[in-house]
Amino acid sequence: TTANHFLEVNKIDSFYSQIQALDGIDLFIDKGEIVTLIGSNGAGKSTTLKSISGQVRPKKGSIIFEGKEITKNQAHQTALLGIAQVPEGRRIFPRLSVRENLQIGAFSVKDKNVIAERIERVFTYFPRLKERLNQKGGTMSGGEQQMLAIGRALMMKPKLLMLDEPSMGLAPIIVEQIFDIIKEMNKEGMTILLVEQNAYQALQIADRGYVIQTGQIVLNGKGGELMKNEQVREAYLA
Ligand code: ATP
Repeated sequence: TTANHFLEVNKIDSFYSQIQALDGIDLFIDKGEIVTLIGSNGAGKSTTLKSISGQVRPKKGSIIFEGKEITKNQAHQTALLGIAQVPEGRRIFPRLSVRENLQIGAFSVKDKNVIAERIERVFTYFPRLKERLNQKGGTMSGGEQQMLAIGRALMMKPKLLMLDEPSMGLAPIIVEQIFDIIKEMNKEGMTILLVEQNAYQALQIADRGYVIQTGQIVLNGKGGELMKNEQVREAYLA
């Protein structure tokens, strides 16, 4: 395959020991897009993100980012190339302060001024975090923790931001806020890969989407088209 797209995932198979989670996943993302992966529990959405970020190594197929093969990268190598993942369930450090959580996000940056600038940048998206700067991550609300998890990923100044179910467990009004911020980040140039069970909201903001079922892509198309698709409506928007 030729590397025409920002990110290309070419027919990957991924396993957890003997269990096959992905079976020939094929997708691409162009610069500046919001692309969403939808599908039910256990379909393979998280595993797709983990395969891209280097937490799971595909057994077959290839992953190309900006023309470079990253299929066999360690997770930190892929992070340094500019791919950040906000994990499902947020996984912030509960005993560390908001500031410390953000600093950890910039682990590869030595310059203190650069770190401070990036923290300020995170505050423009999430002013709430500024108010909570010295509070321990674990004492914040679910929505604030999600904001912190996204903020921590932004500290790397990623080129591609992958979000794994950012709406999980959050009140509708908070979900709306998070989605608004995702849209805003995208408007400012961030490319986004969004995994969601909340298919309605995800398809509304996405340029394109892929539907995953038992480790395979079964449908793909523009966000608006998928929202009108009968199969999608029955299975994910009902
Ligand atoms: P969810 O929303 O529940 O995370 P998902 O679409 O993200 O769903 P995956 O987490 O990617 O699905 O899981 C895909 C398949 O791999 C499932 O059958 C799941 O049971 C299996 N699986 C996921 N993680 C592991 C693991 N650590 N060990 C073994 N099997 C796993």
